[in-house]
Amino acid sequence: MTNFSIAPDTMTKLTRMGDVTFFEPAGDSPHEERHARHKRAPQEFQSRGLEDCISQVSTPTGAKPILKSMLTTACERNCFYCPFRAGRTRTERITISPDDMAHATDALARAGKITGIFLSSGIIKGSVTTQDKIIDTAEILRRKYRYRGYIHLKVMPGAEEAQLYRSMQLADRVSINLEGPTVERLAALAPKKEFDRELLGLLHVAAKIRREHPHERLARPVTQFVVGAVGDTDAELLTLTSQLYARLGLARAYYSAFEPVLQTPLENTRPTEPLRERRLYQSSFLLRDYGWDVEDLPFVDAGNLRQDVDPKTAWADIHLKQAPIDLATAERHDLLRVPGIGPRYADLIVQARGRGRLTDLNDLRRLGIAAPEKAAPYILLGGRAVPVQQSLF
Ligand code: SF4
Repeated sequence: MTNFSIAPDTMTKLTRMGDVTFFEPAGDSPHEERHARHKRAPQEFQSRGLEDCISQVSTPTGAKPILKSMLTTACERNCFYCPFRAGRTRTERITISPDDMAHATDALARAGKITGIFLSSGIIKGSVTTQDKIIDTAEILRRKYRYRGYIHLKVMPGAEEAQLYRSMQLADRVSINLEGPTVERLAALAPKKEFDRELLGLLHVAAKIRREHPHERLARPVTQFVVGAVGDTDAELLTLTSQLYARLGLARAYYSAFEPVLQTPLENTRPTEPLRERRLYQSSFLLRDYGWDVEDLPFVDAGNLRQDVDPKTAWADIHLKQAPIDLATAERHDLLRVPGIGPRYADLIVQARGRGRLTDLNDLRRLGIAAPEKAAPYILLGGRAVPVQQSLF
């Protein structure tokens, strides 16, 4: 890293920070993002090189190298799951000024090392002071350095409306993390955070700002939940997610399977199965992109989803095995109920049947549907059930 200039002190600090935002998803494939970083000691949260601060993040316009960093790893709050909680001696506390962070980001971008920044922070001297520093960093980047790259900003719990508005003007995405799906779950995870006033209230304010400025380019909010540490159920998480999509214009919900961090109150709590995180994402997309209601999701014991099968297949096993969907006549929203058929394939099927009959799985393959066998038990083709070849092995 010699072909660009960052003050040695800032470079050292950034390098020592490393993947401090390990648990903070910045893109569309948080699972891959996190697991690419998980090969090394995940409990340390401190790094060996600048490359540890840069993640390949999946975005709607392709994978981007993003600097994921914090203005400070010190924090006056004590969230039970967090490596940066006050009093944890294993965390090295490092602080970078907005000027230095902006300069380093610009230098890395000019050198072609990154195309964006995800910026978070521990809370010092309150949320408002901390949010000011986050905003300052983005202001300096956009104004002084004329930086046009991707910016994703964390919004501190309880930030002011004007701060949220400015953050939404400066950034491409803003994160307002709810952490838990109810007041009680949040209290068990982060006793100093207030669910309604500091977090859910901010998501309402973000929606209000967007309503009041319909023609302005404003970042949409995302949120994150810590899953599985304090008895939260999939039904709780997805009911709230569905309301956030429908009423508050949430761009994306992230689910972070809980992993215990040494020297925190939850250090002896069992980690959450990654498969649970995956089922939550699949369900979340059904709610956001497939027109599903939360009541459609096939919750089983105590409000959780089956983990052995994806939620769409679980639903189809109950509802479509005896009443398959006729691809010749089904409405688009019914096609979206069939495993293996997403929005794009549903459109292709509707277009194709205007041109002729779909009579067997090869017709679906010719449309580009990669694995029509997945849909086969739940559909009629040419008015008949589709014979499914049993595997001999
Ligand atoms: S406020 Fe944020 S940084 Fe501070 S302890 Fe809680 S989660 Fe960690």
